[in-house]
Amino acid sequence: MSNIRDVIIVGSGPAGLTAAIYTARANLAPLVIEGEPSSTGDQPGGQLMLTSDVENYPGFVDAVMGPDLMGTFRAQAARFGADILTNKVSRVDLSSRPFSVWTDGNTPASSPEPTFQTRSLIVATGARALLLGLPAEQRLLGRGVSTCATCDGFFFKERHLGVVGGGDSAIEEALFLTKFAKTVTVIHRRKELRASKIMQDRAFRNPKLDFRWDSVVTEIHGEGSVTGVRLRDVITGEESALELGGLFVAIGHAPNTDLFRGQLDMDQNGYISTHDGSKTSVEGVFASGDVQDSVYRQAVTAAGSGCMAAIDAERWLEAAEHAAAQARSHA
Ligand code: NAP
Repeated sequence: MSNIRDVIIVGSGPAGLTAAIYTARANLAPLVIEGEPSSTGDQPGGQLMLTSDVENYPGFVDAVMGPDLMGTFRAQAARFGADILTNKVSRVDLSSRPFSVWTDGNTPASSPEPTFQTRSLIVATGARALLLGLPAEQRLLGRGVSTCATCDGFFFKERHLGVVGGGDSAIEEALFLTKFAKTVTVIHRRKELRASKIMQDRAFRNPKLDFRWDSVVTEIHGEGSVTGVRLRDVITGEESALELGGLFVAIGHAPNTDLFRGQLDMDQNGYISTHDGSKTSVEGVFASGDVQDSVYRQAVTAAGSGCMAAIDAERWLEAAEHAAAQARSHA
């Protein structure tokens, strides 16, 4: 059994690694645990690992590649002594302190001794954009297929673009893209948008936006980059081709919170609820980044909230230590 850690951080995106930098510099010797890349959504380094040029992360005059930026975060965390372990967390027990963490497929049933115990835990497991599941989608991700207009829209000037989805995200992305694109076609599987009325009104008034109703994308075309899609009308079954210079998939996000279900309070969409900064419903457990943010979802906001979680954890550990010392002196 390893010794009890002060801080374990689950996740190695901008939130997790920023929390690692701050807790390492506070001499808390953090352990960051990250999964391996997998088709089920594990993405060490977070969603920036799937992004090409990042131009809106402050501090970089020129674009920086997403994986390079995360490599820099990682090197900075390591420089201050953060341990980074690539090994999927399979179970956590937050019902008593110190908290218990199992990795590598182990669970309390297979291994009563947890892999690690920790006085505090920072959850930074992020969220993943839902994708259509088409064969070409993964291959063309970052090469014309995108899940983030704010991140990538700028690179699609004067192109004909498609946006899949009918919710607020899709309409927000489509409206944003009209600032750069020649035209934007929203491809929606029904005849009615799910998006809020005000967003719908804006969309219907925008001359650069048009709609393909009752339609689903069945294929994405292109070798090095997207050249178009194949659509199927779900009412008539009719197939058609649509030439596009980029495809934005905006069919929702899912927070990576399965590990914590039933142990931490979450909102109706499964995002971890936080209060007073990064505090969760369990004392000593903090959440940062996209796992608790369905609104901003930017690398810089995730990094900022990772810093908040680190400071909250450090102060909480200090207060807990102080309370324990007082209890001992009164005993
Ligand atoms: P959402 O509301 O769940 O909408 C997802 C959209 O994608 C729906 O139109 C859905 O179609 C479609 N879709 C889902 N799976 C699909 C698939 N496999 N193929 C094709 N289409 C598919 O998700 P969201 O737009 O990301 O919004 C999530 C939450 O955040 C919502 O509560 C939203 O109001 C909020 N949000 C708010 C703002 C804002 O206020 N500015 C911006 C973004 C998000 P159906 O309609 O047929 O189900």
